Amino acid sequence: MTFMPNFNRAGDLEAHQLAGLKWTVAHAYDGSPFYRARLDAAGVRPDDIRTLDDMKRLPFTTADDLRDGYPFPLLSVPLTDVVRLHASSGTTGKRKVMTYTGKDISDWANMFARCYEMAGLTREDRVQICVGYGVWTAGVGFQLGCERFGAMAVPVGPGFLDMQCQFLVDFGSTVICCTSSMALLVSEEVRRRGLSDKVRLKKVIYGSERTSDAMREKISAGLGGAELYDIPGMTELYGPGTGLECGAHRGIHYWADYYILEILNPETLEPVAPGELGEMVVTTLAKEAAPLIRYRTRDLTRLLPEPCPCGNPLPRHDRLLGRSDDMIKFRAVNIYPGQIDAVLSYSRGVGSEYQIVLEHRPDGKDHMTVRVERIEGANLSDDERVKKDIVRAIKSQMLVSAEVELVDHGELPRSERKSKRVFDHRFE
Ligand code: ZN
Repeated sequence: MTFMPNFNRAGDLEAHQLAGLKWTVAHAYDGSPFYRARLDAAGVRPDDIRTLDDMKRLPFTTADDLRDGYPFPLLSVPLTDVVRLHASSGTTGKRKVMTYTGKDISDWANMFARCYEMAGLTREDRVQICVGYGVWTAGVGFQLGCERFGAMAVPVGPGFLDMQCQFLVDFGSTVICCTSSMALLVSEEVRRRGLSDKVRLKKVIYGSERTSDAMREKISAGLGGAELYDIPGMTELYGPGTGLECGAHRGIHYWADYYILEILNPETLEPVAPGELGEMVVTTLAKEAAPLIRYRTRDLTRLLPEPCPCGNPLPRHDRLLGRSDDMIKFRAVNIYPGQIDAVLSYSRGVGSEYQIVLEHRPDGKDHMTVRVERIEGANLSDDERVKKDIVRAIKSQMLVSAEVELVDHGELPRSERKSKRVFDHRFE
C-alpha cells in the first residue's frame, strides 16, 4: 500500500495540476461570493484558465482576507457540507479559521499518511503524539494520518514528561511527533532517568519551530541516534502534513498533487529564479470548503530544483527561512533575517539564537553585525574559523558583508518564535 501519487510519465503531474487548478477556480467562483468578487475585479473567468501559466492572472489572497471573512473565510460550500473547523492559535487580531468538508479531512489524512510513509514507517510502528490536541490542527492531524497509515497512535499531547517516559518504555513507541524543544526535553528526561536502554525510539517527526543543525544533533544523540524529519504545515493549508523531509535529509518534499507552490519575490510578486529565496504562495487543487487561490503565506523558502538523492520525484523546498514581513534594506540590498537564519542553521559551532545589529558608523557607512551563540562546550580556539566561515557564507549567499560576534551559550535572551532579532540603530 502506498500513499505516494503515481505520476510515471513526464507531464503527468502538470496535467493533474492543471485539472485541479481549473476545478478550484470554477468551484471558488461558483461557491464563494468573496472569490467571485475578487476574480471579477481581476477580470478572470474560470474559462480563462487554459494552462498552468494562466495562474499568473489570478488575484492573490492574504491573511487579511481571512480576518475580514471571519468566522468562515473563503467558504465555498454550503455550511451543511462542513464537518469540522480548525483555528490557528492566533496571537493578534482574530484567529484564522478554516472549514473542512468530509473529503477535505480525508485528503488531509492521505497527505499525512504519505508523510509517515516517506519517513519509512511501517504498520509495526507505534507513534507517540506529543503535540497539542484541540481546536488547532496539530494533534488531530498527526493522529488522523497515523490511523490512515495503519500504525498505532499513542495520543498524549505536549508536556506530561512522566507519562511520556512511561509510555516510551511500556508501549515501546518507535516514533515521536512533537516540536523540537519538546523532543529535546524528552531526550534529556530519558537520559536523566537512565531509560536510554529501555527506549526503542527510531524516529522523531518534528515541526513548527526553527531548529538548527546543532539542536538536531543534540536531540538525535540524546535519543540513541534517532532520525529526525522536519514536517511543515499551516492551518490555512489543511494543517501539518503537507510535505516532509525525506530519508536523504536534503530539504522537504511537498505534495504538489494537492497544491501548487509558487516562490515569488515578495516586493514584485514575480517568480524568483529556481533556487532563490522568496515567499511561498500556495494554490490548492482539491480543497472544497476553503480553497486557497494564490494565498500569500509570508513564509520564505527556496525551491531545491535538483533531483533528490532519495529518488522520490515529488518536488522539494528548503526548510522555512523566516518571514517576508521582516525585510531590511541594507546598503541598497533587500535582506531577510531568515537568510541569516539559514546560514547559521547550516553552520557548525553555533547555536540557534542570534541577533542582527545594524548601525551607521563614523566612516559614513552602514554596518551589520551578527551576534550568535557558540554551541555549549565550544572550544574557543575554534572561534576565528567559525566566524570566518559564517562571514564567507553570508557574503556568498546574500552578497553583503557582515561582521560576526560570538557570545557564550545562553547569553542571548531566550524567547518565543516571533522574538526580536533585528536591532536597527542606523537612524538614531
Ligand atoms: Zn528526497
